[in-house]
Amino acid sequence: MSNAVGLQDTQALPKGLAPQRDVAERGVPVPQHCRTNRDESVNAPVAIPPPLKQAALIGPDSVLQLIPLLDRHVGREARDRLLEMSGLATLPAREGLMNEQPAAALHQAVRRHHPDEASCVMRTAGALTADHVIERRMPVAALRVLRALPPWLSGPLLANTIEKHAWTFAGSGLFRVRSRDPLIFELANNPVVRGEQSDKPVCHWHAAVFQRLFNEIVDPDLRCIETHCVATGAHACRFIIQ
Ligand SMILES: [Zn+2]
Repeated sequence: MSNAVGLQDTQALPKGLAPQRDVAERGVPVPQHCRTNRDESVNAPVAIPPPLKQAALIGPDSVLQLIPLLDRHVGREARDRLLEMSGLATLPAREGLMNEQPAAALHQAVRRHHPDEASCVMRTAGALTADHVIERRMPVAALRVLRALPPWLSGPLLANTIEKHAWTFAGSGLFRVRSRDPLIFELANNPVVRGEQSDKPVCHWHAAVFQRLFNEIVDPDLRCIETHCVATGAHACRFIIQ
């Protein structure tokens, strides 16, 4: 018997994605410190992950939640260029999964061409993605149970649920719960940073997804920190919840 408190049936996950509303309308605070400097080198080449033998899929929130934030922080014109260079001439459907490659290319393009805004934009998009999962994907009864439990119990249960549904945010990467005390997640071969190089961890979107889920369901004081990152040469991105 699974000890994970399930999301809705995974095959049904793409259905009913929330209509894209303005971030402010959704009541999610957008950090005001995001800088809005435009990057004129936006047409420079971007590291696009190598093609896979078989198209790997990822949840469209990895792209859709970024759109209003990019509009706000880098402008519509720059956003359109980012989408175009990422192979996203058209936005993914809200229903269904999408090819992970253009989603990864967009994340990398944002970091490369808008480094001052990237962290803030990715963190906010990750939090919005988690909000969407909580609002639209997690059964109300499961949420009620988890929220009624003490954190030492609900934390590992939520980790199990995340692991069970990891394909929605991990794509072709390999996700596992490395430790349950303390809670440590690993995402090997993370497609979102595949081919990318950095001197510090860059997976702010993933960290924000995890942290928001734990803040909203387990403990509002928990923080998620990426301690290792594929982009820095580690074999896996590693996140600690503490
Ligand atoms: Zn990483």
